[in-house]
Amino acid sequence: MLTWFPSPYPDELFYSVLCRYYLSSGIKEHYLVKKQLFGTKAGVKMATLYPNAAVHAVLSRLPEGVFDGHNVILRHTPFAYYTRMYPATEREALVNDLLQGRGKTPTHLWRTFPKEDYALRYCPLCIQEDTQIYGEPYYHVEHQIPLSSVCVRHKCRLKQIDVDNPRLALNNRFYPLGTVETDRETDMDVSPAELRVSELVREYWRLPASVSPPTCNNLYQTLLNSGYMTIVRQSGIAVDKNKLYAALCDYHGVEAVKRVLGENISGTMMKRLKTWEQLLPDRYIMIQAMLDLTTKAVFDPEPIRDKLKEKIGRMAEQGGFCTLRQVACSLGMKHYEVNAILRYYDMAPFWREVPAGKSQTARKGVLRCTVDEAELERIRQYSHELGYHCAGAFALDCVRYVMEQTELSNR
Ligand SMILES: [Zn+2]
Repeated sequence: MLTWFPSPYPDELFYSVLCRYYLSSGIKEHYLVKKQLFGTKAGVKMATLYPNAAVHAVLSRLPEGVFDGHNVILRHTPFAYYTRMYPATEREALVNDLLQGRGKTPTHLWRTFPKEDYALRYCPLCIQEDTQIYGEPYYHVEHQIPLSSVCVRHKCRLKQIDVDNPRLALNNRFYPLGTVETDRETDMDVSPAELRVSELVREYWRLPASVSPPTCNNLYQTLLNSGYMTIVRQSGIAVDKNKLYAALCDYHGVEAVKRVLGENISGTMMKRLKTWEQLLPDRYIMIQAMLDLTTKAVFDPEPIRDKLKEKIGRMAEQGGFCTLRQVACSLGMKHYEVNAILRYYDMAPFWREVPAGKSQTARKGVLRCTVDEAELERIRQYSHELGYHCAGAFALDCVRYVMEQTELSNR
């Protein structure tokens, strides 16, 4: 049983608390302290980004009720960030697994975790501030999430501690921030994109445990509303992947985009982003930052406006005499695009079907109108613009329209 254990500081990384335990134990040998902390699980990896059995091992060696395990996992490890895109019930199950010591890192995370060159990170100004307030510096959870590169509080670039073979070293040994060599110089040369991304990483981490992606996808809808829409014959509406990739490169820089999204956005990736099946938040955050969308809007269960659907809905509601050519023209689209969109929205055509080819109906009887040359020219012009093949077919359709409307209103 552990008779003493440090209280975590605000947003302190769990590993950092272990380091402070090591420091105050007065014992030099790392393996002895690991034995004290983890008992039979002394071989556990204690500095992984996603929490593991180390949390349970320590908590089970403390008198009951000293620490709230939920709180340790949610506030003192990046767990809430890495599981933000999971349904709330699944997240809760993962927390419970960890609290029982059964936690396993989800495989999709393994693949995305940074490799050998990644070590714990710090902000030189937080070191100063924490030392003033608490008497010692410590590692902050939000600084460790790899997508974040800036201390949101001080708007300066994060630095990494200098350790050989960090993954192995940090898991086996304690490196209290107060005892490792740190660079006190601040680098304030930070782009707005880097700062915004870091702010969003922090927001995703700090959201209440109950917050998960809603049924609607406001991030995806904002892309469609903001000019990243393309129309495809089969599926109707989709995000233009190449345009989006190019815009992300413009905003974040090519290297940053490559790191997070790879060389391009594949159809599968786009589909997974649309359905929230992409479980790592990084890619959503890159897009959200570029769109200048709030985290509240992204996780809002209330869908934002679908501007195109509203526009077409208004046209359909307005009714009146109109043809596909007219609708396509006012939307700035091709005929097949308008048809694809209607299928996508599951809406019925609301325009008049223009007969193909010359009108056959005039064969049995003749309807003659007498107009002057100028008016005939106007009628021909109109009929052409609306997509009719001749003025007669147009005139006949107008007559039918008036009769249909009258019948409808008499019902
Ligand atoms: Zn800072």
